[in-house]
Amino acid sequence: MKLVNGFKSVLAGKPDQSVIYLPDPETVGVSVMDIPYIRPKILVKENDPVKTGTPLFCDKRNLRIQYVSPATGTVRKIIFGERRRLKEIVILLQGKEDFIRFETLTPEAVDTIQKPDLVRLLQEGGLWPCFRQFPFKDTADPDLEPPMIIVSLNGNDPFSPHPAAVLENEFPAFEFGLRVLGKLTRRIVVSSRQSSLDRLNGVKNHVTHQVPDLYPAWDPGVVLYRLKTTVEENRSWCISAEHLILVGKFLLTGTYPVKRVFTVTRPGDQKPHIIARQGSPVKTLAGRFPDKSLITTGRFNGRPVDPDSHLGFFDTTLNILPDNSEEELFGFIRPGISKPSVSRTFLSSLFKTPKELDCNLHGEERACVNCGYCARICPVDLEPSFIIKALLSDDIEDALSFGLLDCCRCGLCTYACPSKIELTHLLDSGITAYYKDKQ
Ligand code: SF4
Ligand code: SF4
Repeated sequence: MKLVNGFKSVLAGKPDQSVIYLPDPETVGVSVMDIPYIRPKILVKENDPVKTGTPLFCDKRNLRIQYVSPATGTVRKIIFGERRRLKEIVILLQGKEDFIRFETLTPEAVDTIQKPDLVRLLQEGGLWPCFRQFPFKDTADPDLEPPMIIVSLNGNDPFSPHPAAVLENEFPAFEFGLRVLGKLTRRIVVSSRQSSLDRLNGVKNHVTHQVPDLYPAWDPGVVLYRLKTTVEENRSWCISAEHLILVGKFLLTGTYPVKRVFTVTRPGDQKPHIIARQGSPVKTLAGRFPDKSLITTGRFNGRPVDPDSHLGFFDTTLNILPDNSEEELFGFIRPGISKPSVSRTFLSSLFKTPKELDCNLHGEERACVNCGYCARICPVDLEPSFIIKALLSDDIEDALSFGLLDCCRCGLCTYACPSKIELTHLLDSGITAYYKDKQ
């Protein structure tokens, strides 16, 4: 698959390929912060005992879509944010692990199971949210037959867990998951970064589309943009390889799978891949970090996380950055040998050495100067500055006609903009406002 635009620079902080296992933490959390559009309805109270697989909250828009406890213990705390919006439910791990037992699905029964039964199993077990539906990347509508399901072997960050670490010992569950997808759609696309293929052995045979090693070519939104030929395909679904494995394991065992693979990246450090329980505390995964740090779930498009919170259902990467927002003395005359930049303003563009990202904006927001950097880097050929102007003048029709809904919110336009305009945030707000308007 060809891709012209994207982020080409080499970044520092690539995780080590080795894998370590973390012991169970004292608490785990199920966060709402990384679940777009959800309207949670809480199903437990503080101090309630829970088993692994007990439903903690569901989505008021479809009460059958549940989020379950990834551990056995008691509900220690239900944390709310502004306007009493649920943030996360914290479980204190206690006693021997006790699983809720769900129905299983044998490999022989996959061919004969009816779709409603399969959907019911996945909804009861808390695995249905693994399926996301375009264009909003909302939880998939179980009543729809998607024209295509895109399985992405790579996560949303340049340093998301390597698929070889995710698939190690899990190949049977992954293959079973692919067979399950065949019950939901007629077209399955499995995409992978070219650089990941070397270590994928048998999985390679299932890869239908290789994408260039250029962030974010492997994002399912970019893959869909390159493949779609009809309007109907805008309602395709996507699922990550890791979530597909969870679906396969859950159906085969009838228990909620609790282990996840994480990466932690920080300047000047190369950490191994980490296998830990879903919803582990941020501090447990991040280890020691300076007080003045910003922790995000991705370099270009992640959300900032509170060090005292827990990782969400979709979070697989923690990115720790020094929060050096102070102005750089005489920054404008420095050669910038190690500065990552998409323009050729700095000498760093001449060297292939890995560049360190930090939080410094190196200036304040200014008016758009029509430089075109945002359009040149956009992986789905959008003109972000045009869309923003349409959104700011409340002209949603114009924004849609400029391709607003193709935006995969990769964050590159914001990164590239010399006027420091928060383009991705504005685009995301536009998409969310349009979504809510349609409900
Ligand atoms: S408009 Fe910006 S955030 Fe959206 S896909 Fe293009 S570069 Fe990424
Ligand atoms: S990169 Fe920023 S300044 Fe340049 S055209 Fe886009 S929005 Fe305007």
